[in-house]
Amino acid sequence: MRAVMTTEKNKPWELKEVDKPKPAENQVLLKVHASGICYTDVHQTKGELPVNYPCILGHEPVGEIVELGPGVRSRKLGDRVGVPWVQAGCGSCEWCLRGKNAFCRKSFGTSASMQGGHAEYMVVWAEGTMPIPKELTYAEAAPIFCAGYTVWSGLRIAEPQPGERVAVIGIGGLGHLAVQYAAASGFHTIAVTHSEDKKKLALELGASEVVSTGKELQECGGADVILATSNSAEQTFDCIKGLRPDGRFIVMGVYGEPFQINLMDLLFKRARIIGSIQNGPEHLYEALDIAAKGKIKVMTETFKFDDVTTAYDKVAKGDVRFRAVLTP
Ligand SMILES: [Zn+2]
Ligand SMILES: [Zn+2]
Repeated sequence: MRAVMTTEKNKPWELKEVDKPKPAENQVLLKVHASGICYTDVHQTKGELPVNYPCILGHEPVGEIVELGPGVRSRKLGDRVGVPWVQAGCGSCEWCLRGKNAFCRKSFGTSASMQGGHAEYMVVWAEGTMPIPKELTYAEAAPIFCAGYTVWSGLRIAEPQPGERVAVIGIGGLGHLAVQYAAASGFHTIAVTHSEDKKKLALELGASEVVSTGKELQECGGADVILATSNSAEQTFDCIKGLRPDGRFIVMGVYGEPFQINLMDLLFKRARIIGSIQNGPEHLYEALDIAAKGKIKVMTETFKFDDVTTAYDKVAKGDVRFRAVLTP
């Protein structure tokens, strides 16, 4: 099969011929129809996140089940499914027993201990798969398995209350979905972006207001919930001043520098900074369901495997509107 290989740190991805994997017990073989490129792929390629080279990256894969390993009972051949970052836990540690396998130290991660999605085929744990609603194409569904799942989880963990204001920092792969999920849920949604062309787009996506800086966010009335989706640490830290009293600042990305904050911004506002990952299958189910009902629209640019270098460069530069998806 053809696969996009990441062979060493900071080296361009290479299209190679590799052996097709075989599903073991409780695993299925997926024929990949679409695989989103997340900015995390860039972090992994640059060695900013742990990776075992050589490897196949991609943690937003969707496809069709074409082979079942022994013992699989919940999926059948032909099912349209995707898998998120965490496919399964060890099954026996405290966090697995509590049903929170995201905290398992021995979890099976897509593009980590399990092969990633930038390939024609991949083996995944059956229990980690989530069916794709029939209303969604493969290319639309793929970005929901990381970007959509992440931002919907972030909004849910913030526990926004009726009438509260939600701000989204950064209008990119995650942010364009976060604005739509917040607006579709009925919240007054404020987009924070420096980019002129994204300001108009953010309004079209459902934002009620668009501002450029934390000061402007503060001046327009601030936000009870801030969803930090930007890759820029500077822009992220700048927006903390836009939190309203009892506000929640949701961190969903990694930055190459320490988190900088003026404690006065937190203390006198009784504000909270909350780390959020992908907080469980319920949130993935909901993120897909909202998309299937047409309340949010995933905006993608699709690329064939032969154009993978172009796709990677566009993602690394933040030039994609808004998610690059590989279609083998
Ligand atoms: Zn991701
Ligand atoms: Zn475990």
